[in-house]
Amino acid sequence: AALVELTEVSKHYGNIRALDGVSLRVNAGEITCVLGDNGAGKSTLIKIIAGLHQHDGGDFEIEGEPTRLTSPRAALERGVATVYQDLAVVPLMPVWRNFFLGSEPVTGRGPFARLDVAAMRRTTRDALLRMGIDLRDVDQPIGTLSGGERQCVAIARAIHFGAKVLVLDEPTAALGVKQSGVVLKYVAAARDQGIGVVLITHNPHHAYLVADRFILLKRGTMAGRYEKSEIDLDE
Ligand code: ADP
Ligand code: ADP
Repeated sequence: AALVELTEVSKHYGNIRALDGVSLRVNAGEITCVLGDNGAGKSTLIKIIAGLHQHDGGDFEIEGEPTRLTSPRAALERGVATVYQDLAVVPLMPVWRNFFLGSEPVTGRGPFARLDVAAMRRTTRDALLRMGIDLRDVDQPIGTLSGGERQCVAIARAIHFGAKVLVLDEPTAALGVKQSGVVLKYVAAARDQGIGVVLITHNPHHAYLVADRFILLKRGTMAGRYEKSEIDLDE
C-alpha cells in the first residue's frame, strides 16, 4: 500500500469549497509535489495530512488503513511529520539542543545526564551526516546555520524521531537560488533514506527538479496529475 493515499478528498469551510475531489499518493522513497497558486487549496491539503483539519468527503488512508487524524500528535504517531516554513528553532541554542527540543532525553536528569549530552551530540552529527551535512561543531548556535541548513536539521530531526512521510510546506519559498538548491538536495537525501515526501510549492521549476509525481491544484480542484516519466525531457 502507499504510505499516504487521498482519494477524491473534499473540504469545505462553511460554504467555501477549499478542496473538491483531490487525489494524491505518496510512496516510500518518492517525492510527490503539490503545485498551485495562492488559494488553490495547498494549505488545506497539508492541514488534512498533518491532522489540523479533517476532510469531509472522500478517503484518506495511511498504509492502507482508513484514517481521520484529529491532531498533529496523531499524525506523528502514524509517522507523518510536517516541516513548516517558519521553523520552530531557538536561534541561540546549540544545533544538537534544537535537534532534541521537545523530546524526552533533554528533560531527563540524573547521573547519566552528561553521558546523554555526548550521545545527543553524536546522534545529531550522524543524522546530519546521513543528509549530507558534515557539521563537526553541533555546539554552534543553530542561528549561525544558513536557512537551507536549518531546514535540513528539521528534516533530519523528523526522520530521526520516526517520520515515514514528510510534508514540506514551501521549503524554498523564502530562499535564494543557492539555498534553494541546498534544500532540494536535502529533500532528495530524505527520499533516498526511503521517506515518502510531499513537497508543497508554487515553483514548478523546483518541483520538476526533484519530484516523481505531481498534482496541480486550481481553486480546490485537480487541474492535473502527472508522473515525471510523462514529461521526461530526454525522450
Ligand atoms: P493555498 O494554501 O493554496 O493558498 P488554502 O488551502 O489556504 O490555499 O485556501 C483554499 C481556499 O480555502 C481559499 O479560497 C481560502 O480563502 C479558503 N480558506 C482556507 N482556509 C480557510 C478557513 N479557515 N476559513 C475559510 N476559508 C478558508
Ligand atoms: P498560504 O499562502 O500560506 O496558504 P493563506 O494566506 O492562504 O496562506 O492562509 C493563511 C492561513 O489563513 C491558513 O491557515 C488558511 O487556512 C487561513 N485562511 C485562508 N483564507 C481564509 C479565509 N478566507 N478565512 C479564514 N481563514 C483563512
